[in-house]
Amino acid sequence: MNEVQLEVAKAYPNDSGRGIARLDPDTLLHLKLSPGDIIEIEGAETTAAKVWRADRQDWNTDTVRVDGFTRQNADVGIGERVTIRKAEAEKADKLVLAPPEDASVQFGSDAAGMVKRQILKRPVVERDIVPVMSSTNHPFMRSPGQAIPLIAVETEPDGVCLITEDTEVELREEPISGFEKTGGGITYEDIGGLQNEIQRVREMVELPMKHPQIFSKLGIEPPQGVLLHGPPGTGKTLLAKAVANETSASFFSIAGPEIISKYYGESEQQLREIFEDAKEESPSIIFIDELDSIAPKREDVTGEVERRVVAQLLTMMDGLETRGQVIVIGATNRVDSVDPALRRPGRFDREIEIGVPDEVGRKEILQIHTRGMPLSDDVSLDHLADETHGFVGADIESLTKEAAMKALRRYLPEIDLDEEEVPPSLIDRMIVKRDDFSGALNE
Ligand code: ADP
Repeated sequence: MNEVQLEVAKAYPNDSGRGIARLDPDTLLHLKLSPGDIIEIEGAETTAAKVWRADRQDWNTDTVRVDGFTRQNADVGIGERVTIRKAEAEKADKLVLAPPEDASVQFGSDAAGMVKRQILKRPVVERDIVPVMSSTNHPFMRSPGQAIPLIAVETEPDGVCLITEDTEVELREEPISGFEKTGGGITYEDIGGLQNEIQRVREMVELPMKHPQIFSKLGIEPPQGVLLHGPPGTGKTLLAKAVANETSASFFSIAGPEIISKYYGESEQQLREIFEDAKEESPSIIFIDELDSIAPKREDVTGEVERRVVAQLLTMMDGLETRGQVIVIGATNRVDSVDPALRRPGRFDREIEIGVPDEVGRKEILQIHTRGMPLSDDVSLDHLADETHGFVGADIESLTKEAAMKALRRYLPEIDLDEEEVPPSLIDRMIVKRDDFSGALNE
């Protein structure tokens, strides 16, 4: 059979949540595919996607670009290999979607119709995660631009199915249990810029977790702790969550200031418990936000609590004999305020600086946060990237939300708040314009 093996790479920012795989023209030719055709992607599991042509810089790199949902559906990580072949897709008679175990979703009255319109002409395989965008013009709102992962609990027929106008789409609100893939979560596509930083974190954290034997063979110790430092709102938390998600590691999060404010003895107790749970559920990532507040320099220490928490943390980190299976990621805005004892070998001995994004990074972040928004043609993200010098990711996120709110205010006079439903024709017309962004920028 005609098939190729390719390395998995992350999706282009605009492709996320769309069920698209990018292949280069040579591969398309070799597999006798045209853009828009459906392929099977076989990793540890098999899923399907629609193919599009890759951008020129990716030609002849032997890669396939797919998003985090498709990677989970194929059960592969970035850098792993998958087998690609043309799929024999049949028209779906029926598709049943339900939220994963830990999610609760409420569907509005025409939700099934809207979901169907979103996933029209897309391939689905039973057990796949099917990301559905929620946006301001969607019946079930979460934060705009975020995809809601639903699970295809049933398809008729089996195998690769294509959603058409005639497919009966059924939505269940009852979460489905017993499905390993829970979807959701942050993936590398949700991070704009930071290409090199992501690469370094992957080498330090993902590699030892997935392939501990490489480290033991070379006789080197995988890192125990990685310190991410840089200004607030640049994506440190995001990055830690993405790594945990992409490695399927358990994620434990500790907010520095919170743990300090506990009663006598409780902070240490809590730290101990988290480390024990992390060991039990390894591979795990323990994320400690605002590490400087938990571990200020000794000479700065005023309170007894801080000193004890630092000591406890040192004990826990020194006691980890997990060889890369439990990794502690610390984040701080003030790297100089972190206790030097924590930065010694075997503790937080790797450091990565997460800086303010440049123009290219800002454009990617803008793309990410406007994914679920209907943008008017006069909105130029290039232009906005140029105008937002000095903005960090969190600022860009607020900007896009504020622009959407401005758009909403334009339509408010047309919305009758006493009516249960907003007319679909109005919802279809809603767009975010250049002026909304200019207004948001000038505030
Ligand atoms: P930090 O931990 O560095 O203070 P966060 O990761 O908590 O920052 O970022 C806060 C929010 O800002 C994120 O949830 C995200 O929406 C947005 N954000 C920050 N950096 C980025 C980025 N590089 N790409 C996309 N969104 C970002």
